[in-house]
Amino acid sequence: MRLAVGGYLAATNSFVAHRMDLDLFHRSTIPGEALLKAGSGGESAIAGFLNGAREHSWEVVPLQFVVPGVGGKITEEAHEATKESFLSMLRKAGPVDGVFVQLHGTAAAEHLDDCEGDFLAALRCALGDKVAIIASLDGHANVTPLMVKSASMLIGVKTNPHYDFAPVGQQAARIMAGMFDGSITPTSAWAQPAMAPALQKLFIAPGWPMEHLMRVAQNLAARHAHVLDVSLLGGFFPSDRLETGISVTVTTNKEPNLARDLAEQIKEACWAKRHAFHTDMVSVEDAVREATETEQGPVVLGDLADSGGAGTPGDGTALLAELLKQKAQGAVIGNIADSAAVQEAIKAGVGKHVTLTIGGKVDKFHGDPVQVEGRVRVIHDGVYAAATIFNAGTYRRGVTVVLDCGGIEVILTSRPTLVFEVNHFRSLGIEPTQRKILTAKSELQHRAGFAGIASKLIDVDTPGLATQVLTRLPFQKIRRPVFPLDNI
Ligand SMILES: [Zn+2]
Repeated sequence: MRLAVGGYLAATNSFVAHRMDLDLFHRSTIPGEALLKAGSGGESAIAGFLNGAREHSWEVVPLQFVVPGVGGKITEEAHEATKESFLSMLRKAGPVDGVFVQLHGTAAAEHLDDCEGDFLAALRCALGDKVAIIASLDGHANVTPLMVKSASMLIGVKTNPHYDFAPVGQQAARIMAGMFDGSITPTSAWAQPAMAPALQKLFIAPGWPMEHLMRVAQNLAARHAHVLDVSLLGGFFPSDRLETGISVTVTTNKEPNLARDLAEQIKEACWAKRHAFHTDMVSVEDAVREATETEQGPVVLGDLADSGGAGTPGDGTALLAELLKQKAQGAVIGNIADSAAVQEAIKAGVGKHVTLTIGGKVDKFHGDPVQVEGRVRVIHDGVYAAATIFNAGTYRRGVTVVLDCGGIEVILTSRPTLVFEVNHFRSLGIEPTQRKILTAKSELQHRAGFAGIASKLIDVDTPGLATQVLTRLPFQKIRRPVFPLDNI
């Protein structure tokens, strides 16, 4: 059997002005041969699929892995060129029996809300109905009927934060093997309640609504031998499209009615639980007061509206401004993305005193620039290895600087960065367990990453274009009514 393997991982926050363009796409592309190398032993769905392919001794045709990450809308040129380059690679490859692609499920372009649906439809059109096409999806995917219809099957991760990409790839290879030997014909059904949960509430751990719903879904599936997969995915509200939000895709082996019934039952279970998805956050002022008054550190303050995982500028200053105002001691600003300030600090040099105006520069939604005075303590290349099982791998924050401003240390990165675990701090010589307050630009990942060391985790209602209060955002495309935008 000949299998083509590739990936297109982009996530869009529709509300930010920033655009993901072709130049970014080119810089973020892992070519075919490198994809095979990067895939061996890795944590991606592609790596998992390649393991499966090796077990079956399939011939693998590596395409490419386009990984621009999270940002604003994709330019028309970038999406169309990417789609065309995949199609041209497939044309060059000649006949294949199957294609596996790792997708995110939230990519939106200037001219198109559903990039993955469009991409899968183009693959289907080029390859015809007989070729198996399986796509893996992120747990935040906003799944659309076009995606479901165009692929033979979609398989989403079951964790959040996500750490089961590789098993999903292996599952795809197992199912594809069944399709090749004729024992499996996947039939999928998709259903969606009128809900677009806040990202804060998609955490999957005991006591959280998504964990309850995952168990409901898996228990229902376990009763039926013909269920191949249930992908209950939380959605990504900042990517504004008709189908934004939670969805369930059930795939059975030749049992379309069963798939439909189960999808409907799980949809109803989600709807019944909707009020458990109400956000709970603390105001910036109260959160900083609570943190400074807490004896035992570190208190981790989640800067949810400017999460490095949600496509915002990452230069939000609300927590820094309030920590300065309340004269906090022993606090670390997890990061502010400000490449100009980083360059100024580098120009001054390690050990030198600087006065810098940092953050709040990209747009008017993430606080005002803040003037700080301090000593440049560290200049770092920004590369570090995550210590946690989820989001494992190497992270690149761009050149990074630590400013020592007395009671507050400020980490300045060159690009927006998800702050979700201890090595983010340790790589810069900051021992997080010896600080009183840490701030983290993250929507939920920090809950898992700092759970072992934090004396308290406080989710803060900071301003920003990933605010968990959805009524503050200018949605245009999402279906209405929808919870919690509408009081239903
Ligand atoms: Zn995700």
